[in-house]
Amino acid sequence: MATLGIPQNTIAILQKYHFNFQKKFGQNFLIDTHVLEKIIEAAGITKDDFVLEIGPGIGTMTQYLCENAREVVAVEIDQNLIPILGETLAPYDNVTVINEDILKVDIVRLAKEKNGGRPIKVVANLPYYITTPIIMGLFESYVPIDSITIMVQKEVADRMQVGPGTKDYGALSLAVQYYAKPEIIANVPPNCFMPRPNVGSAVIRLTRHETVPVAVEDEKLMFKLIRASFNQRRKTLANGLNNSPEIRLSKEIIQESIAGLGVPLTIRGEALTLEQFAELSNIIGRKM
Ligand code: SAM
Repeated sequence: MATLGIPQNTIAILQKYHFNFQKKFGQNFLIDTHVLEKIIEAAGITKDDFVLEIGPGIGTMTQYLCENAREVVAVEIDQNLIPILGETLAPYDNVTVINEDILKVDIVRLAKEKNGGRPIKVVANLPYYITTPIIMGLFESYVPIDSITIMVQKEVADRMQVGPGTKDYGALSLAVQYYAKPEIIANVPPNCFMPRPNVGSAVIRLTRHETVPVAVEDEKLMFKLIRASFNQRRKTLANGLNNSPEIRLSKEIIQESIAGLGVPLTIRGEALTLEQFAELSNIIGRKM
């Protein structure tokens, strides 16, 4: 039975193994059973599912995953947690723990071996210091994904969900929304974790689009344009593109392309929708 979400049980196992929290690994363990149940429910885990958990910690959420999924692979970087996981996950025969940095794991291969290449579910209470590389790595490396249900910093969850005209809108919003439909499931206060983080957190579910929502001819070019626009947020789109080392286009081509989009030349990148970035990259791509 999943028992670690109860604070006393977490404290007992940490003391038994003389565990020291490592700040550099973003270790804040969940100690709230309601939040754990909510994550499992939001991820829609069933006995058909193969689940990848990133950063199991002492195995708190892993226990819930083992009870609800067909098979679980949990990737944990901190070797001091491996003996603890050996004990807390001993009752389950459908889990494998890999002691590795998630950024070094070949997840495409893992999905092939463990799930016949069918879309997997990813669930994690993420180490906040590498949230963006983990999410973008999952989307960009063509891992077959059904959904990613994750705990992130509240501010990051907001950034993933918003559209143009808000201060949080940026390259992360556009990238996430290109690949998936983001939905914030719950806000989670610091007292649900041990130790308490300094910031609020949120659970967000990213459901992968079956087909991408915009018609873009060159994805890489679109993301270069997006990065260039938001690198210099307070500048106009034209200046942002002009100043970007990643894009080598004449001022005239940039201006013509923006005009071709039917928007004023003074527009800022932060005012453009995903559809407009896709169209702009198609216009520019044809001129290159
Ligand atoms: N899932 C546990 C829970 O909810 O209580 C722990 C969550 S804690 C926020 C993040 C976990 O990710 C820690 O156990 C940490 O050691 C692990 N971690 C940090 N960086 C990692 C990486 N690059 N690869 C794999 N695990 C990592």
